[in-house]
Amino acid sequence: MLMIDGSFGEGGGQILRTALSLALATGQEVRIEKIRAGREKPGLQRQHLAAVEAAAALGQACVEGAELGSREILFRPGPVAPGDYSFSVGTAGSATLVLQTILPALLTAAAPAALLLEGGTHNPLAPPFEFLAKTYLPLINRLGPRVRAKLDRHGFYPAGGGKMRVTIEPAPKLAPFSLLERGRVIDCRCAAIVANLPRHIAEREIKVLKRELDLDIGATRIEEVKSYGPGNVVAVEVESESVTEVFVGFGEQGVRAEIVAGRLAKEVRRYLDAEVPVGEHLADQLLLPLALAGGGSFITFPLSAHTTTNIEVLKRFLPIEVKVAPISDRAVRVDVERAADRDLI
Ligand code: AMP
Repeated sequence: MLMIDGSFGEGGGQILRTALSLALATGQEVRIEKIRAGREKPGLQRQHLAAVEAAAALGQACVEGAELGSREILFRPGPVAPGDYSFSVGTAGSATLVLQTILPALLTAAAPAALLLEGGTHNPLAPPFEFLAKTYLPLINRLGPRVRAKLDRHGFYPAGGGKMRVTIEPAPKLAPFSLLERGRVIDCRCAAIVANLPRHIAEREIKVLKRELDLDIGATRIEEVKSYGPGNVVAVEVESESVTEVFVGFGEQGVRAEIVAGRLAKEVRRYLDAEVPVGEHLADQLLLPLALAGGGSFITFPLSAHTTTNIEVLKRFLPIEVKVAPISDRAVRVDVERAADRDLI
């Protein structure tokens, strides 16, 4: 049985989720210890427990330790059973992270799946829905499967209550790909979203982003949406020839809209200036699907702790090597390759 140390490296929820994803996708039994030891509130929080329960349902798994606050679980998966499922985080915990935990096993499953996920759809420190729909899933689809996501209701922290539907048409196997050049930037769009908050918040955010990023008038829009609680996000979508990257700023009580938008503009500028195709968050999330595909390459920023930690967890489950080579002071090349001496599971 594989043992995974959840306190390793970044020490957060991603170690747990990657281990669950790969246990499901490869049928390996795993014990995960010291779960989220690097976080202020260690152990399984609602979102992590929801991910464990979703993985257990899908993989007809035997699980020990699946309780709130638990710092250790044993996960013994059975065969993956694709079909229709509903999963609810029950708080504003991220529903997109729950999806990312179970999606890999469904990409090459024997039949399609349809998921209804409820919880947070726009959480700081998790992939927001726009990133999922415009950045992550199109790249998943490039591997062969056909995954579509629809947002029925926004779920902001702390009220949650978001709802999304995801359909997955699997592929027989995943085809590796490379993202080594961004190509020309075709379009840069911005959407400011408010729920149960004054419209001027979105207007002020758009004003700053228009100015800082030199956006065309038609490239911005304001959405006033329904949600259980108040919420505000502002998303910038950079569409290039090879990839679409989405960057999101989260409105916070006590932080002026201009500050939220200014920080976001800086993040987008950094991406545009570095000329890398893959941004920081996409880098750590792209590794797992590429590793399952048995290969792939991309160029990104110098690696985050999430990415270096994820590489180590992936190598425990899969017969892969990950080579990381700096190509300048602000870019590295990552190559995921099949290890010469081990067969893919
Ligand atoms: P953890 O902190 O271990 O729970 O992992 C959080 C995950 O959410 C990582 O995969 C991050 O890359 C991802 N993430 C955090 N913020 C964003 C964001 N703004 N856009 C996309 N992904 C994000």
